[in-house]
Amino acid sequence: MKIIDRMTGGGFEQLVFCQDGETGLKAIVAIHDTTLGPALGGTRMWPYSSEEEAIVDVMRLARGMTYKAAVAGLALGGGKAVIIGNPAAKTESLLRAYGRFVETLKGRYITAEDVGTCQWDMDIIHRETRHVTGCDPAGGGGGDPSPFTARGVLNGIKAAVRKRYDIDSLAGLTVAVQGLGHVGYHLCRLLAGECARLIVTDINPRVLQKAAGELGAETVAPDGIYESRCHVFAPCALGAAVNDETIEKFRCDIIAGAANNVLAEDRHGDALRRRGILYVPDYVINAGGLINVADELYDYQRRRVDRRVAQIYNTVLDVLTVAEKEGIPTHRAADRLAEQRIKQAGSKNSGHGEVSGVG
Ligand code: NAD
Repeated sequence: MKIIDRMTGGGFEQLVFCQDGETGLKAIVAIHDTTLGPALGGTRMWPYSSEEEAIVDVMRLARGMTYKAAVAGLALGGGKAVIIGNPAAKTESLLRAYGRFVETLKGRYITAEDVGTCQWDMDIIHRETRHVTGCDPAGGGGGDPSPFTARGVLNGIKAAVRKRYDIDSLAGLTVAVQGLGHVGYHLCRLLAGECARLIVTDINPRVLQKAAGELGAETVAPDGIYESRCHVFAPCALGAAVNDETIEKFRCDIIAGAANNVLAEDRHGDALRRRGILYVPDYVINAGGLINVADELYDYQRRRVDRRVAQIYNTVLDVLTVAEKEGIPTHRAADRLAEQRIKQAGSKNSGHGEVSGVG
């Protein structure tokens, strides 16, 4: 196994490359900032077309994790990992090699599941390193984080609806959900339980049929979702749903979903504000999964997780209120909150500052 540790600039602490000829593993770990604690973030497995594309993705995602942990009030830093390859070609030996790679970082980076990986993969990785979360609940793990992410997104949507329409109910409102995967489908179930009307899309037609049959959702083609008239657009697929091509298409009042890096670039957040669309910053609303896996580091307690996931409602409301009062886009208000928390902790030089741990 060949490991190359590159110190990086641009505010990142570490970028580590791993290549293992025996198993075909090609992975990159990005550690953005550990001021608040060890860097926790999922492992994404994706067939990136180039190493450059993977580097851009992992660095962007790692930075988002720093901000997500800070805003959620967790004593954790931000990091992320990518395995370059097709998730369908995953093998136990590849995952175990990856686990050994994570172990070499000695707990500076703690992994979890992400797109292309799942709880079973974490259990295999756990055979090689203890710096992994999201493992089997039977073994004391928190299990699949997706239902917690979905619950947090529902809370965030409710906060945005409260801000926008001054109402507490989702009944009769239309929510357009892009991506019916682990989080998206669960979110649809929760929304249906709140009597919201659903418009859904996915590139997988089978899951669309299921949502239509099981939840009475209206289905549209992947490209059609942006123009769907709705109250809330919930991006729950991959990143960059708000980009130069889509920005003028949206027919919604609120954008609030689970996907990471919803804005292709920060300027798209400014453009949403100019269009009068209320954007709930991704890392604020999708922290439920992180809250769940982080709790594993402190003797997992479901009640504590539920309390913290419920708190996402107030955090979203706070961010939206600051943005409104200061006349700034919501993504900048969220960044400001995160940076304040990191700065406070850094200046106290304690690694934890005033940010409470998950305990
Ligand atoms: P997933 O892979 O289970 O689901 C993604 C779904 O999106 C799949 O059903 C896929 O077919 C669909 N999809 C992909 N491209 C699409 C397109 N162009 N149009 C429509 N559908 C498309 O992933 P997930 O775990 O549900 O995560 C979804 C998003 O939420 C990701 O961006 C992830 O990073 C983010 N997120 C997930 C968690 C979690 O707990 N799983 C936590 C925080 C953030």
